[in-house]
Amino acid sequence: MKIYLRILRYAPGYASRILKFFLYAILGVVFSAGYLALTMPMLKVLFDPVVSASVPPLPETFELSRAVAEQTFNHYFIGFVQQYGPHNTLLIICIGIVVLIIMGNTLRYLERLTASRIKVDVVKNMRMDIFSKVSSLDIGYFNNQRKGDLMSRFTNDMSEVEGSVANSLKSVLKEPITLIVYLTVLFTISYKLTLFTLILLPVTGGLVAEIIKRLKRKAKQSQESMGRIVNILDETFGGMRVIKAFNARNFILKKIDDETSYHRKVNLSIARKNELSSPLSEVLGVIIVAIILYYGGNLVLGGSGELEPQEFMGFLVFYASMIQPAKNFSNGITSLQKGTVAADRIFRIIDTEPAIKNKENAIVLHAFNNGIEFRQVGFTYGADMVLKNINLKIERGKTVALVGPSGGGKSTLADLIPRFYDPTQGEVLLDGIGLPEYELESLRRVMGVVTQESILFNDTIFNNIAFGMENVKEEDVIHAAKVANAHDFIVQTEHGYQTYIGDRGSKLSGGQRQRLAIARAVLKNPPILILDEATSALDSESERLVQDALTNLMKNRTSIVIAHRLSTIQHADEIVVLQDGQIVERGTHAALVQQNGLYRKLSEIQKA
Ligand code: ADP
Repeated sequence: MKIYLRILRYAPGYASRILKFFLYAILGVVFSAGYLALTMPMLKVLFDPVVSASVPPLPETFELSRAVAEQTFNHYFIGFVQQYGPHNTLLIICIGIVVLIIMGNTLRYLERLTASRIKVDVVKNMRMDIFSKVSSLDIGYFNNQRKGDLMSRFTNDMSEVEGSVANSLKSVLKEPITLIVYLTVLFTISYKLTLFTLILLPVTGGLVAEIIKRLKRKAKQSQESMGRIVNILDETFGGMRVIKAFNARNFILKKIDDETSYHRKVNLSIARKNELSSPLSEVLGVIIVAIILYYGGNLVLGGSGELEPQEFMGFLVFYASMIQPAKNFSNGITSLQKGTVAADRIFRIIDTEPAIKNKENAIVLHAFNNGIEFRQVGFTYGADMVLKNINLKIERGKTVALVGPSGGGKSTLADLIPRFYDPTQGEVLLDGIGLPEYELESLRRVMGVVTQESILFNDTIFNNIAFGMENVKEEDVIHAAKVANAHDFIVQTEHGYQTYIGDRGSKLSGGQRQRLAIARAVLKNPPILILDEATSALDSESERLVQDALTNLMKNRTSIVIAHRLSTIQHADEIVVLQDGQIVERGTHAALVQQNGLYRKLSEIQKA
């Protein structure tokens, strides 16, 4: 219930809207009941020659009882028939039915529209909430959480919630009103017959409910299996190159065959129960109707006036009209349960606290003045220490290169500077103040990152360069592209700066993508630059272009450069050699070559 209310709260003004919904629903049900009830006098006109009957007087006292209502109705009704004749009465009744049905359905339309409006608002606002929450989470979260899992929250769970909101309003809130109103009518027609009917219902209801319970268990297994299939597909399409290169097609086929076979088995078992439930409930339903017909028919034939034929017909009409709302109600409960389970999964994401967030009264960083310092920094992702005892000062305006064997901890060290992670030991300071003291956005504003995999988005070249910035002038973008050696190739593309670059920039070469990423950094113009193997994925021609672009970019900035190719960082002010998470050597290129240690060994291997 708490979860359900939380879902509804996503629709602004939900309380008054639900009230409105109720109002429409109640009025709508009353009108439909009215039109169903009109069948009774109509039958009376057709079968019972009331024309000759004497007109009963109006009741003397007014009270809310069936006898009084009936007498009042008969007084006017029989009077009307005798005055205008049965034909005209029939016509009036038919017009009455049409008017009532139009009003009832207009209200139904309004009621459904209200429910749908609540639904679409919930869905939109909830999606935005998940997205805004997920994007505020720290990088570490995305390592632990499967991407597919998050996607499934967004799509499957969201559509579960969507269906459930609409269904729950229309069925769980509204149908009880219908049922209560109709049941009241049934009781007024004949309480005996109604009680008799009510005793029969649990018998069939129980049987069908058991089938449905089993179905639900299977449906869950089926969904989980589908999730795994989607995951395999995702991996397969993403890794097509590797699968082909390693001839792993059969391996992957086997994997998907196992899963789809399981899925088939579960679905077959679902189908058996599913297909059984409808014929079974129809047979049971008709058995009940037959019993009611027999019992009620006998009451009519008894001739004691306990149940008039038209009343019996009216009873059957109301009874039949209750079956669908009853089914809707039970389906609605199921869908409500499914929806709240899905919503619970979504809320667990929304309620995740980011591991890295702003402190209260965080300092807004306006300018970077002195330098960055690592003090006794240690870091672990889980079990092993990836960084140990790191002490490092990066002064403003200097370039520090991080080199060493892969897995040594270079990227991890660089990730600590924009606070993608916080160190597990020691601290990182900027201008003498610990990074957590600064407001995150302002801290990241002074930094630019260019990585090996340049991250581009399916948008125009212009928007990719201006990414994340507002009110960017065209000439600034062009200037940035020129500094990044990208202008020439950009103007040669079909629509220049307005060319769409495809999914993740797939229409561009590696070097072109990299230069766009550099142009983005130039435009941002941050005082601190982090370059993570920015040239390592390129051929030598593009590398030269990119390297020139980087040199332009690094002018007058503080740079932390992770380099695989040592030739690119020879001019760095300090080169730090990291191995197994520790700084094993440090100094200028010349000094390190002199030292005859790991750096020299690495550079000799690369020269060879
Ligand atoms: P380098 O950049 O020098 O190649 P990294 O900083 O990428 O080194 O990695 C250092 C170590 O941390 C490696 O042993 C790597 O396996 C581990 N590592 C890197 N990223 C993660 C992660 N997200 N979760 C767990 N371990 C990681």
